[in-house]
Amino acid sequence: MRFSGLRVLKEGLTGNKGWQAHWRDAIPKPEYDVIIIGGGGHGLSTAYYLAKRHGITNVAVLEKGYLGGGNVGRNTTIVRANYFLPGNSEFYSHSLKLWEGLEEDLNYNVMHSQRGQIVLFHSDGQRDAIARRGNAMINRGDDAELLSVAQLKRMVPYLDYDQPRFPIHGGLLQRRAGTARHDAVAWGYARGASNRGVDLIQNCEVTGIDIQNGRVRGVQTTRGAIRARKLAIVVAGRSSQVAAMAGMRLPIESHVLQAFVTEGLKPCIDHVISFGMGHFYISQSDKGGLVFGGDLDMYASYAARGNLPIVEHVMEAGMTLMPMIGNARVLRSWGGIMDMSPDGSPIIDHSGIEGLYLNCGWCYGGFKAVPGSGDALAHLIATDRPHPAATRFRLDRFRTGWGLMDEEGTGAQHNLH
Ligand SMILES: Cc1cc2nc3c(=O)[nH]c(=O)nc-3n(C[C@H](O)[C@H](O)[C@H](O)COP(=O)(O)OP(=O)(O)OC[C@H]3O[C@@H](n4cnc5c(N)ncnc54)[C@H](O)[C@@H]3O)c2cc1C
Repeated sequence: MRFSGLRVLKEGLTGNKGWQAHWRDAIPKPEYDVIIIGGGGHGLSTAYYLAKRHGITNVAVLEKGYLGGGNVGRNTTIVRANYFLPGNSEFYSHSLKLWEGLEEDLNYNVMHSQRGQIVLFHSDGQRDAIARRGNAMINRGDDAELLSVAQLKRMVPYLDYDQPRFPIHGGLLQRRAGTARHDAVAWGYARGASNRGVDLIQNCEVTGIDIQNGRVRGVQTTRGAIRARKLAIVVAGRSSQVAAMAGMRLPIESHVLQAFVTEGLKPCIDHVISFGMGHFYISQSDKGGLVFGGDLDMYASYAARGNLPIVEHVMEAGMTLMPMIGNARVLRSWGGIMDMSPDGSPIIDHSGIEGLYLNCGWCYGGFKAVPGSGDALAHLIATDRPHPAATRFRLDRFRTGWGLMDEEGTGAQHNLH
């Protein structure tokens, strides 16, 4: 079933009776060439690119809950490519290019909106660092514009520019950055993978990993044992727990990140805006809600809900940046479990156990990575070589100390990234 304007018109005129399920609800087979554990954005995009680019279709995605019920359906939907360090910068640049063709590629409306992201700066030192980041982005071939206060005031007049503690000195704009509808991204990839023959198996929790003579043989699940030649762990906040089933201890901590949405308002915020002093970011959804978030809850946890000190911290940051937000009522808040790596950068690599691959360490930035990550992991699984845009995401950097990508400059501390 293809989506098109004509199709919407036809269905609208004939009682919407011709729509079909977006993917097959598959029954597990005894054996697959590749099993992907985790039906989030990264697992589903990996399955899609395995089928599409490499012709590998004897693949199952095993999801313990429902597709898109994890972080991929819980994030604040910001998509950007404004990374500074080699390793990260080329990867996110590649991912943004995939985003730009994604809706056509998937024939699915993921509501990708390149409305522009503005990162604000509040001191001379911050301006220098941000100008350097902008130059690095331009050198790589991406877009970046340094904005003066006068330019900002024309674009986003509702910010508190002269706030005594954190006055706004300017901003860095990436026009190609923006947002996408998070769960539609999961559904679009699921549909694309299923159409190409991938089995998507929901309510199927992996409870054990079978390894014989240093080689992966398959998994134990709540729906029985399934054999596999290759296995990828793509479970975000559960990475350490699932890798432990293979006897591995990953350098990953799981932390809670919360997000908030207000009641629907008339259009008032055109861009994504990031506060340079308080780790606060905000955009307005197509339904009108202001969607925003802030820092981690700062303690390790597997609970997909947060605590009040961060609620207070985020609200304070919002009020500091744009006092008008105080007039809106918060409708909901929720949390997700973040897979925090020590340097704040991801891992896409072999595990060291034959046939077992890892994809984790996305911290709170993995939504924008969904297309690039799936492309890179599919390439690694299919060819046993790293994708050219993801050569630095190696696991052994945490053992050797070589090649760390500490984007935030905070040192190897999970809770500061
Ligand atoms: C509040 C919040 C805001 C965020 N904002 C942004 C943002 O603005 N921009 C951005 O780029 N990123 C953002 N992120 C980060 C981004 O959402 C994540 O990095 C990304 O979604 C993680 O990858 P995933 O989609 O594959 O994870 P998930 O969707 O969590 O997928 C992992 C899946 O694995 C499944 N699983 C776990 N264990 C097992 C098992 N044993 N067996 C089978 N299945 C299992 C889980 O049920 C889950 O569905 C945010 C995250 C949160 C929580």
